[in-house]
Amino acid sequence: DRYLADDDRYDGRMPYRRSGRSGLVLPAISLGLWHNFGSVDSLETQRAVLHRAFDLGVTHFDLANNYGPVAGSAEENFGRHLAQGLGRYRDELVISTKAGYGMGVGPYQDGGSRKYLLSSLDRSLQRMGLDHVDVFYHHRPDTETPLEETMTALHDVVKSGKALYVGVSNYSASRTREAAGILAELGTPLTIHQPSYSMFNRHVENVVDDGYDGRQREPLLDAVGDLGVGTIVFSPLQQGLLTDRYLSGSAPAGSRAASTTSPFLSEKNLSESYLERARALDEIASDRGQTLAQLALSWVLRDDRITSALVGASSVAQLEGNVAAVSGPALTDDELAAIEPLAVD
Ligand code: NDP
Repeated sequence: DRYLADDDRYDGRMPYRRSGRSGLVLPAISLGLWHNFGSVDSLETQRAVLHRAFDLGVTHFDLANNYGPVAGSAEENFGRHLAQGLGRYRDELVISTKAGYGMGVGPYQDGGSRKYLLSSLDRSLQRMGLDHVDVFYHHRPDTETPLEETMTALHDVVKSGKALYVGVSNYSASRTREAAGILAELGTPLTIHQPSYSMFNRHVENVVDDGYDGRQREPLLDAVGDLGVGTIVFSPLQQGLLTDRYLSGSAPAGSRAASTTSPFLSEKNLSESYLERARALDEIASDRGQTLAQLALSWVLRDDRITSALVGASSVAQLEGNVAAVSGPALTDDELAAIEPLAVD
């Protein structure tokens, strides 16, 4: 039985926001496949989450070469789900992948070389069974590779038709300016940036010392806003800390903080200061008729330089709850003021 999408998927509930000054619009909520789509995860749950997302107007799915575990398996599984039904809607999907973090053995599977980026994109396309992705990113800055080489590789993947748009992830403000300048000279725009951002992680709002001595210092959000580059923010729920998952003070079985394959979140994150702030934010959310997760998403989307909030979901219920954030009321000045002292890193 092949998947048929809901006829009402574009009924106006999901807003689509323009990525900077490009022609590409993205859903306010996008779905990432970093966790929950690997070889260790249930294919049935994966399929259900992907289909429900698309039925709700989530047209954008974000991957990377190394997502799994094992590395590569999220792309393989996504390719499987495309082949089994979702792929009939290929022209309605924005599929992204990335290369930059360590992917495998040897000197050519890490960093920002032309050698790594071009071969990695070919393997990603093979795993997903695609002839092109919509967005290809350099996943992280690599100070050992000349930026000209990395950006020329991105320009060339657009020229070759293997990606329609290109982006950078985890780049500082000044490196983003430099990257955008090189790409513009080559004739390919920088369409999107993918930084982390949440109520508990506000580096994009601040001037950060990024090691580019003597250059203009500015917050990343100001740089992308000025350059006309879109911004899709990852981990807007701070990997689950900005949801009701941990409000009791412990990590339930099956949660990311309880998982041994998740090095970036553990029970150590559930400090007293965290619990105080999360519970206070949860109260503000419920006064608005929202969950904490929905408040966290409304909050990152309050800034129109943010194109999309890129969430993860381990169940259909989580996905549905997150997507419903777009129907919440706009944040008032009083609510923003009450959130401010609680929204600290
Ligand atoms: P989130 O902050 O949205 O965390 C998602 C996790 O939070 C879920 O897997 C789930 O964890 C929990 N969760 C989500 N919704 C709910 C809910 N409604 N109620 C309770 N718990 C919930 O984002 P991720 O950290 O997953 O990152 C999202 C995407 O961003 C990735 O898939 C990837 O595409 C991208 N990313 C990019 C990076 C980069 O360097 N460019 C780095 C990291 C991510 P649980 O397992 O506990 O259920």
